[in-house]
Amino acid sequence: MYDVTIIGGGVCGTAIAMYLSKYDIKCCLLEKDNDIAIGTTRANSGIVHAGYDPEPDTLMARLNVRGCELIEDLVEIMNIPYKKVGSMVIAFDENDEDHLRELYERGIANGVRGMELLDKEQLLEREPNLSPDVTGALYAPSAGVVNPWRLCIAMAEIAAKNGVEVFLDSEVTAIEKINGAFKITAGNKEYDTRYIINAAGLFSDRIAELVGAKDFEIRPSKGQYYLLDKTSNWLVNSVIFQCPTEKGKGVLVSPTAEGNIIVGPNAESGNERDDVSTTREGLDFVAQEAAKTTKLIDYRENIRSFAGLRANSDKRDFIIGESALCRHFINVAGIKSPGLSSAPAIGEYVIEILEDCGLIMSKKEDWTYPEPHICFADLTDEEKEELCKRDSKYGNVICRCNLVTEGEIFKVLDTYYVKPRTLDGIKRRTGSSMGRCQGGFCGVRIHEILCKYYNIEPETVLWDRNGSYIVAGKVGEKND
Ligand SMILES: Cc1cc2nc3c(=O)[nH]c(=O)nc-3n(C[C@H](O)[C@H](O)[C@H](O)COP(=O)(O)OP(=O)(O)OC[C@H]3O[C@@H](n4cnc5c(N)ncnc54)[C@H](O)[C@@H]3O)c2cc1C
Repeated sequence: MYDVTIIGGGVCGTAIAMYLSKYDIKCCLLEKDNDIAIGTTRANSGIVHAGYDPEPDTLMARLNVRGCELIEDLVEIMNIPYKKVGSMVIAFDENDEDHLRELYERGIANGVRGMELLDKEQLLEREPNLSPDVTGALYAPSAGVVNPWRLCIAMAEIAAKNGVEVFLDSEVTAIEKINGAFKITAGNKEYDTRYIINAAGLFSDRIAELVGAKDFEIRPSKGQYYLLDKTSNWLVNSVIFQCPTEKGKGVLVSPTAEGNIIVGPNAESGNERDDVSTTREGLDFVAQEAAKTTKLIDYRENIRSFAGLRANSDKRDFIIGESALCRHFINVAGIKSPGLSSAPAIGEYVIEILEDCGLIMSKKEDWTYPEPHICFADLTDEEKEELCKRDSKYGNVICRCNLVTEGEIFKVLDTYYVKPRTLDGIKRRTGSSMGRCQGGFCGVRIHEILCKYYNIEPETVLWDRNGSYIVAGKVGEKND
């Protein structure tokens, strides 16, 4: 019998797992896909918001500001790509400037530190490539950019190292209530548990329905993006937002944690929960809106277009707490933006909720962090040489765009608790295939490494989700 079972291996589920791993209880995490960080967590803007946007006295406001602080500590300890670049909300007229003052006041109420209202001259001094039509900005120095899936994976590694069991390919399909506990069916196995945390993102209302506790509805909203090569990194220095509207934070132009430039997203409602296709219309809208921010974006430098799905709900705030309809069933649902920024704070808060629900926990004394990630490209020449002497695999570059070595790939395969089995799983952990060629060159070599490591046939290797085979037919045989 598990004390707590978390459903969903996104940034919220893994943050909760990380905090639970500090206590002497039996926990597991069930993820329907073949890897963690594969839902909304993998396709978003990657902004650690400062926290001036949510309405004061909401969960979003409180958890965003706290999450932003917690992320700064985590990225340092676990060597997660992150840059504290600050954010600007830019104005184009007096109406926008009124809006900036409102956001400033909201930020003060939410406890955001260091904000400044900049005039046109101050703004263009910091961001010379913005449109000359700008009239000022709200600057928030505590905002940053993070690699969202690396944050999620690091938290899962911490959790797994400290005893949380992570089960992949485990889609929850039924939940039965028996004598005050639950029996969960997932991936043809059954799990008995005293408490459930529903962190199933876009599918969290369906999970709530399984226990007869669906009192909210998820309304997916798609956002499409361009991702520009690092050659465009001169464009902006900080995250540049236009004034937010009812539909969301609008189209941004921002550096990413890896030094690319991201442009997007739009906001489309009425999507299927698994439709992450991009469209000409959606991307054209993004380009048109971004042109108001700066005319200097060169879309020939685009290396990838992608889309993510927001788990918006029929409630204004995050839905976090014990369900009023089912005891010991805790929803962590409707986690729209700033969900990524808030995730560690959500994890911390869920501990409080579980204690209020009667779960008795005491802190472990032997809780530790796993080894931080090694990123060869970030090392000094001396450190690189030293590492190559210790293990010659670090001298074999697999991904030329991002200088990812065979040593890093094997380190992940050998030592990570939640092991990647796909090309994208390796990408999410090492940064391979994320450069200009997008896996065109290194993909074949990583494919080969996966075959050797797992002793599997080439035609069984997956690019990403189940079914995404790379090779059609039998390798070595001629197909008619
Ligand atoms: C376009 C866009 C831009 C965004 N930008 C930002 C931003 O810049 N900053 C920010 O703070 N936030 C941002 N967000 C929001 C942020 O990405 C999300 O709040 C966050 O990723 C949600 O994480 P999650 O763990 O709740 O959901 P998910 O990452 O979706 O995780 C849920 C998991 O549950 C699993 N699951 C579903 N059903 C089942 C089942 N039956 N059994 C087992 N597992 C199941 C899924 O496979 C998935 O892995 C953005 C979102 C989008 C879409």
